[in-house]
Amino acid sequence: MSKPHLVLTDVHRHYGQGDKMVRVLEAANLTVESGEMVALVAPSGAGKSTLLHLSGLLESPQGGEIEIIGIKTSKLGDRGRTQLRRSTVGYVYQFHHLLPEFTALENVSIPQLIAGQSQAAADKRSMELLDLLGVAPRASHRPAELSGGEQQRIAIARAAANHPKVILADEPTGNLDPETSDLVFEALGNLIKNEGAAALIATHNHDLARRADRIVTLRSGLVISHTL
Ligand code: ADP
Repeated sequence: MSKPHLVLTDVHRHYGQGDKMVRVLEAANLTVESGEMVALVAPSGAGKSTLLHLSGLLESPQGGEIEIIGIKTSKLGDRGRTQLRRSTVGYVYQFHHLLPEFTALENVSIPQLIAGQSQAAADKRSMELLDLLGVAPRASHRPAELSGGEQQRIAIARAAANHPKVILADEPTGNLDPETSDLVFEALGNLIKNEGAAALIATHNHDLARRADRIVTLRSGLVISHTL
């Protein structure tokens, strides 16, 4: 069997020092398989963003190991981490952060062009993703001409553009009304299954979390399974 796309082993992360030290993760363990959608539900301040940043190689832990597609990241230097992140991780934020002067299609194609794809191949892939997410008719629109749900679906397409093995989403529907959240979450779920990515999605929304394959929470610096 192929290796899980994302494995955290005894990950430790604290901020600050001495009596100001905040221990966020003590011994966090988590495995996310290809095509699996894991919802991360925990109160504000529990460490959700920290866990996502660590998983996305945006920060380093003080202890433990983070493996992406079987590659141990603790021994990698900054360059190696950046390369691995660019080639394997897609990130979706609460706010879409689309480039306002470019169309939906261009926003999804740009990361592919940066990665060395031809314009034709990038645009073809972008259209497939926009289609999968139900926003193909909006391909030539700029972000300001799109609804919040459309903007977020395009941000999801952009995150998936370079075939990431791991998709990380920090409150991807936190800014949307319930009906639109539903639509966007469903689109994200379809994409994860279709692409065979491993996904970790932080959300406050319990109804949406129930639609994931598995729910985890954070308690006393540990990742534990959770049922709502
Ligand atoms: P969540 O995403 O669940 O709201 P975070 O991961 O953002 O939680 O934060 C977890 C804890 O770590 C909080 O107590 C927060 O104040 C602290 N924290 C996060 N980032 C930093 C930082 N750069 N410096 C100091 N403390 C931080």
